[in-house]
Amino acid sequence: MLARLVRQRIEALIPPGWAKLAELAQRLQAETRARLPDVVARRRALERVFTGPAAELAIAGREAEAEAAYRAELNAPGSATGFVTLVGAGPGAADLASLRALRLLGEADVIVHDRLGTAEVLALARRDAHRIDVGKTQGNHTMPQAEINALLIGLAREGKRVVRLKGGDPFVFGRGGEEFDALRAAGIACAVVPGITAALACAASAGVPLTHRDRAHAVTFVTAHRRRPDLGIDYAGLLRPGVTLAIYMGLASIARLRDELDQAGYDTAIMAVLIENGGTPEARVLRGTLAELAAQAAAWSQGGPALILLGGAAG
Ligand code: SAH
Repeated sequence: MLARLVRQRIEALIPPGWAKLAELAQRLQAETRARLPDVVARRRALERVFTGPAAELAIAGREAEAEAAYRAELNAPGSATGFVTLVGAGPGAADLASLRALRLLGEADVIVHDRLGTAEVLALARRDAHRIDVGKTQGNHTMPQAEINALLIGLAREGKRVVRLKGGDPFVFGRGGEEFDALRAAGIACAVVPGITAALACAASAGVPLTHRDRAHAVTFVTAHRRRPDLGIDYAGLLRPGVTLAIYMGLASIARLRDELDQAGYDTAIMAVLIENGGTPEARVLRGTLAELAAQAAAWSQGGPALILLGGAAG
């Protein structure tokens, strides 16, 4: 029993992707010795390799890029730029963050984070890591996206190991795509660590399977928030039979959702589920018809992030 527990701990500490890193190091071993004959210099360079972009890229399976980053360190020790990892924190509960996310938080020099849902995970970060809050509370954009992009690029150019910590998954309604593009355009090494997105966390909290052999063969993630509020979302087109809709940022416009579906000929007595703080111990769930939820949502909300599940197996 003890051996099993010890093995679990070791596996949690040493990610499986390290095999790739070990292979890379072995392949470049002779070259490393030849380039850096001085043992102290070599040790320093290897430490940077094993905690820097080469390691992250190898672990992510991007071998060619990892090898290039490794060689850059050998050819010009210490000159390598830093790198940025877009890390998904999950829905907020620290134990729903991935082991990889936690490891990177433990290695980061700087953590640039949102406010929504990242506090508990952030508490597990390296104590002396510099933290920068760029969080947006609703309607109060504390830092424009272009400035966040510039900040990340600037920090990487200073040689920092930067974690960009985002709620849920970085590539689901989190502008992770814009940050990723900006970093790549600036030539900064960048990797992405997925997180449990709100739809998954909320489905689990509410006991609603997003797919179901008899009731839902597809699931659609949609945001009710749009750059141009006058352009409606074609909810009726998305909500086909057998499709579960997971609607992000939809609480404020749930009445409009009801009206749009009503106008499109849907029965607004369709069952829906509203989940606040899904995936955390504070999770709250409200079930009812869409019409009922639209009437009750504003009074029911306690101000936490909320998601609507509709159609498919939600009923
Ligand atoms: N990247 C995030 C989504 C950011 S958009 C992700 O993958 O989850 C922010 C919206 O996500 C919120 O307005 C809300 O609709 C939803 N959300 C985020 N965390 C949530 C939670 N714990 N419970 C319910 N909804 C949540």
